[in-house]
Amino acid sequence: MTQRVYNFSPGPAVLPLPVMEAAQRDLLALPGIGISPLEISHRHKWFDGVLADTKGTLRELLGIPQNYQIVFLQGGASTQFSMVPMNFLRGTNLPADFVVTGAWGGKAVAEAQREGTVNVAWDGKATNYDRLPAANDVKLSPQAAYVHITSNETIQGVQFPANPTFGAAPLISDLSSDFLCRPVDVGQYGMIYACAQKNAGISSVTIAIIRDDLLERGAKNLPTMFDFRTHVKNDSVYNTPPVFAIYVFQLILQWIKNDIGGLAKMAAHNAAKCKLLYDVLDGEFYQGHAQPNCRSTMNVTFRMKEELEKPFIKGAEQLQLMELKGHRSVGGMRASIYNAMPIEGVKILSEYMQDFRKKNG
Ligand SMILES: *Cc1c(COP(=O)(O)O)cnc(C)c1O
Repeated sequence: MTQRVYNFSPGPAVLPLPVMEAAQRDLLALPGIGISPLEISHRHKWFDGVLADTKGTLRELLGIPQNYQIVFLQGGASTQFSMVPMNFLRGTNLPADFVVTGAWGGKAVAEAQREGTVNVAWDGKATNYDRLPAANDVKLSPQAAYVHITSNETIQGVQFPANPTFGAAPLISDLSSDFLCRPVDVGQYGMIYACAQKNAGISSVTIAIIRDDLLERGAKNLPTMFDFRTHVKNDSVYNTPPVFAIYVFQLILQWIKNDIGGLAKMAAHNAAKCKLLYDVLDGEFYQGHAQPNCRSTMNVTFRMKEELEKPFIKGAEQLQLMELKGHRSVGGMRASIYNAMPIEGVKILSEYMQDFRKKNG
């Protein structure tokens, strides 16, 4: 078999080895059924079981209250940038408040503006999205349809605390790149959503968790597929869902529950991993992009002298440390160290960074 490398890609991203081994074991024929999870019908009773178990384990891990519904959607997190305002802004005569801490939040604003009034309550553009707002700087509307935030800005590496508060309107958060990296108090949110391909499996499924009263308030006469209620009423099988991606998500949840031991343990692993890298950022040879008080546990962004970037990447690749180049809007490097990145890979990167500094400092 080809040797695996350490894949620091921001997404699609590294998966837990036990998850891929389980999928591989059953890939040609599910035990007792003889059909591959790639081939099987979404109306098969096997898939009923997958759906029930996936939702049950997710509910248990996140402590999701009973008045929240879980749905599996398609079109990526990007489709939620439209679907959320279609459902919850359209026809309300209220503004939606957006706190923009990076590139994804900006994209969400652009789509919401097609549906209604958007109030950008704060935007971190002036400092290239290296920080979170101070509490007094956020200019919320007196009455808003909802407040939208991006829990972790994947490109800039800026992350909110697990349960930030923003006034009385329902809080809607895009958790695409830090879903299941730590416990979250779902009860404080109106809705959370996340595409799977960063921390929850493979691309093609987006997980949304939505409070009942928001669902009831949603706009009427939306196109069927864009109405959240369609997917709630039909338990995510109104049309053909991404069966394989939901199955991989089920395996991911089992891995977090059984192999890791839950989200508190997951958070401790993640804290230990990112510390190995942040401890090396000295502000001189390596400059972190995000301010220290809001550094992401998932995407570690840093710069060095530009002429050192190519040699840095080349040396990293010789150690099988791959996909470290940062996004062009930030420059430098980005090490994405999602749940599934083993600490061994982060240790090797941390040691390499120290080594590289010694040789080039
Ligand atoms: C990746 C990402 C998205 C976009 O996800 P797609 O599934 O590619 O549409 C949105 N928000 C955040 C925070 C992301 O990291």
